[in-house]
Formats: sequence, C-alpha cells, structure tokens
Amino acid sequence: MKAIQIIEPSKVKVVEIEKPCVGAGEIMVKLHYVGFCGSDLNTFLGRNPMVKLPVIPGHEVGAVIEAVGEGVPEGLKPGMTVTLNPYTNCGTCASCRNGRVNACQYNETLGVQRNGVMCEYAVVPWQKVIPAEGISPRDCALIEPMSVGFHAVSRGAVQDGEYVMVIGCGMVGMGAVVRAALRGAIVIAVDVDDDKLALAQKAGATYAINSMAEDVHVRMQEITSGYGADVVIEAVGNPVTYVMAVNEVGFTGRVVCIGYAKSDVSFQTKLFVQKELDIRGSRNAMPGDFRAVINYLKSGNCPIEPFVSRIITPEETAEALNDWAAAPGKVFRILAKF
Ligand SMILES: [Zn+2]
Ligand SMILES: [Zn+2]
Repeated sequence: MKAIQIIEPSKVKVVEIEKPCVGAGEIMVKLHYVGFCGSDLNTFLGRNPMVKLPVIPGHEVGAVIEAVGEGVPEGLKPGMTVTLNPYTNCGTCASCRNGRVNACQYNETLGVQRNGVMCEYAVVPWQKVIPAEGISPRDCALIEPMSVGFHAVSRGAVQDGEYVMVIGCGMVGMGAVVRAALRGAIVIAVDVDDDKLALAQKAGATYAINSMAEDVHVRMQEITSGYGADVVIEAVGNPVTYVMAVNEVGFTGRVVCIGYAKSDVSFQTKLFVQKELDIRGSRNAMPGDFRAVINYLKSGNCPIEPFVSRIITPEETAEALNDWAAAPGKVFRILAKF
C-alpha cells in the first residue's frame, strides 16, 4: 500500500509499504483523508526536534472501519466513519497517575514520536478509534486539531460572560474560539490575517484584532473596560505573542499556553506576581474534547468549508508543503486524500 514518507528535510516520497494485519483487540481502518498538522510541516522543514527521520507523518484522521479483530466491542463495526485518538499514554507516569493521560510524559503521537498514518490502511488498538457517524470522512480529519483548542478552553476553566482572548486563529486557535463561545464567553480573536479573523467571527468571536494593523493593548483595554482579559489562550508559539498574553491578561486572570515556542522567551516576572496569574500549559486533548468537537460538527453550526484549504494526492505532498511554508498565514488545513 501507498504511504507518504518524509525521508530528510525538504524531501518527501510516496513509498510502498506492507499492508498491516488486524489482530485481537485491534481495528483496521481505511484512511480517506489525513490532515497535515503544523508539526508535520515542521518535520518536513527539518525543524521538529521530536522526530527521527525517516517518518510517515499524519495524525489528523478521517477514516472508515475496514475490519475488526477478535474481542473488539460490538459497537465498532466495518463501514463506520471514525477518527483516531493519535496519542499513547504509558499508564504509570505522574500525568497518567493523575488521570491526565493527554499529557503523558512518554506520549507518542502518530507521525511524531512514531510513524503516522499518511497511508492507505492502519491498524490500531480499538480504544483509539472514535466513532464519528454523521460526519463526513473529510470533516473527520479536522476533529483532532479542533479538539486541542477545545482542551485549552477546559484548561482555562472558561465561564460564561468572561472575556477570552485567543491569540492565533489557525485550526487549533479556532477550536479555542469555538469552545469559548459555546461556553458563553465573549471571545476576542487576535491574528495577523484578516481572512482568519473574519472566519473567527463566523465561528463565534465577538471581537477581532489584527495585531499587525492595530494597537492590541489599546483595543483590549477598550473592549474590556480597562480590566484586561479574564483568560488569554496563546495558540501561536512565538515570543511576541507569549509576552502579549501576559501583558493583556487582567489581574488574577488565567493564561493558557498551547503554542510551542522555538526559542526562549523573556518575561517581566513581576507581572506573574502582581497579577497573581494562573499560567497553565495545555497539551493534546482528552477523549471528552474529541466528543465535544464531534457534537459541535454534528450541530451543523460550524463554518467548515473554509477550514479545508486544499485537498491533495500523496504525490503532491512536497509541492503543497512548500506552498504552505511560503504562505503560512493563508492555510488552515491541507488534507491528503487516499
Ligand atoms: Zn496536530
Ligand atoms: Zn504516562
């Protein structure tokens, strides 16, 4: 069967690999659409320290169950549309012991610490298969990145009526915008791209700030009557936006960090103390976050078409990733179709 393999930085190939066999407790899925995550792009660009090349990327999945092994629960049947939970957890580290399996110290995400599923078929333990009936296989490929944004809103303990600033309106940030709005918060979306901001407003943001064109601090003070945001969610991973998060959060507010910054960030740590901030990391997503995204997509309220920027054949991967790297502000998701 066909698979997309990143051989070395900037070099990707369609390779022929053996089709896996389904064993007891396992499910074979036929991949239909697999989304390229920002982490896959970084792998292609040679900037992902967590990856050892060569690797098959891909962990954002729209698939259909092909076959089930012995001992798989009745509810999971061939023909069902599903997505995958692409994370593993060891069961014994501190995170696992605390039930926070999404942050397992030894997590191996598909396509990052182990081979992913940019291929025709994959076999996984049944526990990793998430039914998503009523959602098309294409749209299923958007569930995982959105669920990461949903999880950040849980980490921020967002309440109705709170001002929630979401910095960065890519797929993950957009998930945070949606979830915060669903919880009744007043969402302020921040990005450098007007198209993304317009979409964030369609997805539930009340306010939009283009940080290239406007004075973010002045606008935030105006919008929040001088109080600052109750919660700031950083979904970029840039030193500038990390500092912005700590500056724009109000006194006694919460800052939720999703973005991976590639360099060190310096802060005025007195702000942590003076504001008595809660600064919380947010990593991956919990099973409940996946289910919440599935419910949201089923509701029909998601403006989903603009999130699919491009659908490619496996052979077009290098071209598509190079285009994405050249204009990162314009892409939500590129999906490989198998
Ligand atoms: Zn991802
Ligand atoms: Zn663990």
